[in-house]
Amino acid sequence: MKTLNLGRRHLLGAGAALAATTLAGCAGMSTGPSIGRVVVVGGGYGGATTARYLKLWGGNVDVTLVERNAQFISCPISNLVLGGYKQMSDITRGYDGLKAVGVKVVQGEVSAIDAAGKKVRLAGGSELPYDRLVLAPGIDFMADEVGGLAPALNSGRVLHAWKAGPQTVALRQQIEAMPDGGVFAMFIPKAPYRCPPGPYERACVVASYLKTAKPKSKVLVLDGNPEITSKKGLFEKAFKDRYSGMLEYRPNAELKELAGGVAKLEFEDVKADVLNVIPPQRAGDLARSAGLLNMNNRWVGVNWLTMESTAAPGVHVIGDATFPAPLMPKSGHMANQHAKVAAAAIIQLLKGEAVNATPVVMNTCYSFVTNREAMHVASVHQYDAADKTFKTVPGSGGVSAAANQIEARYALSWAENIWADSLAL
Ligand SMILES: Cc1cc2nc3c(=O)[nH]c(=O)nc-3n(C[C@H](O)[C@H](O)[C@H](O)COP(=O)(O)OP(=O)(O)OC[C@H]3O[C@@H](n4cnc5c(N)ncnc54)[C@H](O)[C@@H]3O)c2cc1C
Repeated sequence: MKTLNLGRRHLLGAGAALAATTLAGCAGMSTGPSIGRVVVVGGGYGGATTARYLKLWGGNVDVTLVERNAQFISCPISNLVLGGYKQMSDITRGYDGLKAVGVKVVQGEVSAIDAAGKKVRLAGGSELPYDRLVLAPGIDFMADEVGGLAPALNSGRVLHAWKAGPQTVALRQQIEAMPDGGVFAMFIPKAPYRCPPGPYERACVVASYLKTAKPKSKVLVLDGNPEITSKKGLFEKAFKDRYSGMLEYRPNAELKELAGGVAKLEFEDVKADVLNVIPPQRAGDLARSAGLLNMNNRWVGVNWLTMESTAAPGVHVIGDATFPAPLMPKSGHMANQHAKVAAAAIIQLLKGEAVNATPVVMNTCYSFVTNREAMHVASVHQYDAADKTFKTVPGSGGVSAAANQIEARYALSWAENIWADSLAL
């Protein structure tokens, strides 16, 4: 496949430009009475972007964003924190940019949704009424799928670090405390999970650190999938060229049980100094308690023209919580794109106008293979009216020819740009 040769600003901006074309009538609409109240739950990649673009394109939409955490902490780039190459402060941003553009930011936990009454309830008991609701709760874990995993995670002995935050700090501490000659074992769940290339990037970055700091150590990558799920050839090359003798990759190695600090696979037991288990995943708890998991009892089916849940029209669901269109990854970039489709559609619905019938979204995911070299995968997805889903545009995407230092600079710029785009920084 041919790789798109577009800069990151173009890639992030293209979805916006397409939707903005359909919203030309909104220009200069920032004054006058409110055209409606929108509550957005979840201030991650999807929710923050929706809140920002509802103000940018709608102007006089009354937008409230509810997020349980005080700050935005990015999963992208968090693997570099595990390697000691970045600090938590490098991946943490505030919500002041959103407040400055008129979004009401509420720190709190949404505990229930009353779709019929059009209001959400917060854990403290207060309620927020809405005309349109956006849920961007990300993922939660199906820890019960693996025997012994839930208590091991609860005890803090076993970490996932698949939501950036305190787990990232704790896993870095475990890696630093590992003896030279120790074993870091990582378990990858069967797809679909958040960020297909993320586990392989983590394996490389941890190996990169250990190669210098504790060269007798070993990285064991135990994959529940039959093969590497993203950038396969490039990761195989990175494992072989850079980490031969240190990193061992095993496919079809699904974790069945954790017992007494031992990880049990189908035919063998694994002991390690650090057990990093990425659990099987589903849409966030709030989508589940709201009864929206109508795809395999794990994900939320959506109408791709509006991002409304097929289980609850009027409730828009975006990001990792959705059942993906074919070849659509669960990524921060894609959540940002879903958000723009949702924001444009919500403004049009509030105004009683037709929604854009031909949305296009795109994705770029960078992966570091050392602290200095990265590579990418890109794709463009066009809505197909006949099949009512997004399909990849033939020849539109592809992967890097090789990991290199220029792409590492692009990767860091991509992160700064998407944080600025999503959080109005
Ligand atoms: C290690 C790693 C590396 C990654 N690297 C990349 C990358 O390079 N590029 C890329 O594009 N993607 C990457 N990803 C994937 C990316 O992080 C996710 O796809 C993205 O975060 C999804 O966005 P989201 O808005 O759906 O969910 P999130 O960003 O997880 O946001 C969900 C938010 O909702 C809040 N929330 C949930 N429930 C409630 C509630 N009831 N009340 C209030 N708040 C609530 C949560 O606190 C959270 O802030 C990576 C992921 C990991 C784990």
